[in-house]
Amino acid sequence: MDALQIAQKFQKKEISPVEFLNQCFENIEKYDSKVQAFLEVEKEQALQEARESEERIAKGQSLSPYDGLPVGIKDNILQKDRKSWCASKILEGFIAPYSATVIEKLRSKGMIPIGRLNMDEFAMGSSTENSAYQKTKNPHDLERVPGGSSGGSAAAVSAGFLPLSLGSDTGGSIRQPAAFCGNVGLKPTYGSVSRYGLTAFSSSLDQIGPFAMTAEGARILYEVIAGEDKRDSTTIPEAVRAKHQAKIKTDLNGLKIGIPEHLLDGISKEVLMSLEKAKEFLSKELNAEVISVKLPHQKYGIPVYYIVANSEASANLARFDGIRYGRRAKISDNDLIHLYEASRTEGFGSEVKRRILIGTFALSSGYYDAYYGQALKVRELIRQDYQNVFEKVDVVLLPTTPSVAFKFGEKVQNPVEMYLSDVLTVSASLAGIPAVSVPGPTDGLPIGLQIQGPHFSENLILRIAQKMHELYQPKVASL
Ligand code: GLN
Repeated sequence: MDALQIAQKFQKKEISPVEFLNQCFENIEKYDSKVQAFLEVEKEQALQEARESEERIAKGQSLSPYDGLPVGIKDNILQKDRKSWCASKILEGFIAPYSATVIEKLRSKGMIPIGRLNMDEFAMGSSTENSAYQKTKNPHDLERVPGGSSGGSAAAVSAGFLPLSLGSDTGGSIRQPAAFCGNVGLKPTYGSVSRYGLTAFSSSLDQIGPFAMTAEGARILYEVIAGEDKRDSTTIPEAVRAKHQAKIKTDLNGLKIGIPEHLLDGISKEVLMSLEKAKEFLSKELNAEVISVKLPHQKYGIPVYYIVANSEASANLARFDGIRYGRRAKISDNDLIHLYEASRTEGFGSEVKRRILIGTFALSSGYYDAYYGQALKVRELIRQDYQNVFEKVDVVLLPTTPSVAFKFGEKVQNPVEMYLSDVLTVSASLAGIPAVSVPGPTDGLPIGLQIQGPHFSENLILRIAQKMHELYQPKVASL
């Protein structure tokens, strides 16, 4: 399912948006009982929007070349008058009073947001097993996890339900599930996509980004959702973006690719082999120079990430008190504190509670300097490491994950082991740089290779990812 090809077929009137959407719904009805990517599919409004798109195309009044393309939406992105529960019990009953900026942007181009895709509760997790509602399966092997936290978004695209979907990435939640499910997932530069209407997990790390079967598909969706937003003061003004972009290499020929070889200990054999093939291919096809680079502070990535992300989460999730949003516990007395406690105890799952506890501890007055303060300092060193590396090379190439998708239950009892599946993704998040996961060559389960670049190098890293499709073409799973 190549998004661009479908959009072109709409324009040439070879297939209509309504016909296509009905095909999507048919596939979802037939196969999503196996995959369980969707928490909910809203048909009526999507079909209405598809009919409007069809009329526009007939009259030659398309809103964009992508008019009529359906896009699946992760359950933490608000869509006005619809549920948006972050796959949590605590938000049960909550109806979004407004739409996220990214949703408005999709509509302004005639794209059609559909459904609510499953995720780890509040985007905390690496397997989507933390959803309070259902277990999403990896479409390539139903006994394995799709990755997380955007597992539903990744699985829906790889199952062929939709050409495109949106997820969110805080420390790897787009790239890791894209790697496990065998599609392309982009975490954009921090500040390039508005977070207005994205339920916050860790505000200094969260970014919304696209999933697609091809890098070109991811590029289309990224370009639609990116841009400065008055309603999110952390979005970067156009002029600043242009200044950064002017420094990025535009010619793929003679690219300098850095490989942090010191990070490859403990990576599985099949993943290393895939990386090796990609390296050979790119050196040959792009005349690329491959250089070994060092990111010396990357080894602190996991502890720094889990202190920063959980500290911010403990503050962000304080608003879920049973009063303002979603579900309220029934208690027998009139005690307010008791109501908060009961609502949070019933509403949050165990991983979310663990993180609130870790974050609250790291921010507490006696420990603030030792943990949160220290983590911020090391975060800055990680950022500087990348800055130094990008003075020598154009991009960094490394695996997205240490291994292929693991089986259900393999890591749920051991949170630290689960956290380690993000070992190769968190540093780009801490540094705010863009990174894309693209399927690498394999004979077995999907393998993701990651291309990281300087701030606002999305175009460059996606073009390299697109080139990689000549080496290996990802396929929709047969269900
Ligand atoms: N797996 C990581 C975590 O659990 C990343 C999550 C994310 O990017 N939202 O925090």
